[in-house]
Amino acid sequence: MKIIMLGAPGAGKGTQAKQISSKYDIPHISTGDIFRANIKNGTELGKKAKGYMDKGALVPDELTCDLVMDRIKQEDCKNGFVLDGFPRTIPQAEALTAALEKIGEKMDFAINVDVPDENIVNRMSGRRACLECGATYHIVSIPPKKEGICDNCGSELVLRDDDKPETVQKRLDVYHEQTQPLIDYYDKQGILKTVDGTVPMEQVFADIVAILQ
Ligand code: AMP
Repeated sequence: MKIIMLGAPGAGKGTQAKQISSKYDIPHISTGDIFRANIKNGTELGKKAKGYMDKGALVPDELTCDLVMDRIKQEDCKNGFVLDGFPRTIPQAEALTAALEKIGEKMDFAINVDVPDENIVNRMSGRRACLECGATYHIVSIPPKKEGICDNCGSELVLRDDDKPETVQKRLDVYHEQTQPLIDYYDKQGILKTVDGTVPMEQVFADIVAILQ
């Protein structure tokens, strides 16, 4: 099963993608996590991506597309994968469609986790991330067992630079301008499904599972 998660930054698509990955035993591919790992390891890609990410802008398509195309060719993706944060622009979506067409495949579902903008800014300011293992928390809805410490690996949790309120509005603007058109794109392909992302996350997950089954 090949799944794309769509939705504004902070809509909860990462949390849902992780659960889908574990229930259906398919890899969770988050371009944001891949970029953050590269930044942490000081790679060339990380150095290039950081400037864009800190501003709330998108990393250019040419840096992003090859990375994802290489990843989905790997052995562990042969039964499917869940893409989180990719595609984010029409050219990225077209590159993905073309790469899959070449091997006679196509995406199965594009799940749009729908949350209005006014909920997003509040959510993001409470978000906390572990830069060590990629786990994410929320100070109210998904608190860690010990405040400020990652349950998985014991590292310190931080408010990501790009989750700071001044950057969130910019990311929302970028989302509406560049990523929202993908909703139409996948609707036309006949694979778009929308779930209400404002209900409790267990319910969001149940709604997604009902679609996938
Ligand atoms: P995320 O963790 O998905 O919210 O991504 C964090 C940041 O990484 C975004 O604000 C972008 O700067 C960058 N990024 C992640 N995925 C993409 C993508 N598909 N295209 C361009 N930039 C991306």
